Amino acid sequence: MFFFIGGITPKTRRIDEQPIRCPNCGLNQAYRTRVDHWLHLFFIPVFPVKRGEPFLFCEHCRRPVDSARTSAPPPRSIRLECRVCGKPVEEGFRYCPHCGQRLS
Ligand SMILES: [Zn+2]
Ligand SMILES: [Zn+2]
Repeated sequence: MFFFIGGITPKTRRIDEQPIRCPNCGLNQAYRTRVDHWLHLFFIPVFPVKRGEPFLFCEHCRRPVDSARTSAPPPRSIRLECRVCGKPVEEGFRYCPHCGQRLS
């Protein structure tokens, strides 16, 4: 018996119509894109089961753009400094790894 035709398919969605300059080819043809996964029944999408992470996709290169190489610096670059020795301390440390000073 064949009574269920369905499954999960990825659907590519452009979430921003404003093109961004692609660092690979230099053309303004990179778009913010998201791949959502939809549950579909009889070839009709029913509801999204998984929301994808946004990424840049270049229409010219036909491949995703490495977002680490785009102009915006990653938000993880927040660096703390030890009050005593002045050396950079990564976020999350409770004590300075260089001099042992307790960090607030
Ligand atoms: Zn490109
Ligand atoms: Zn220190």
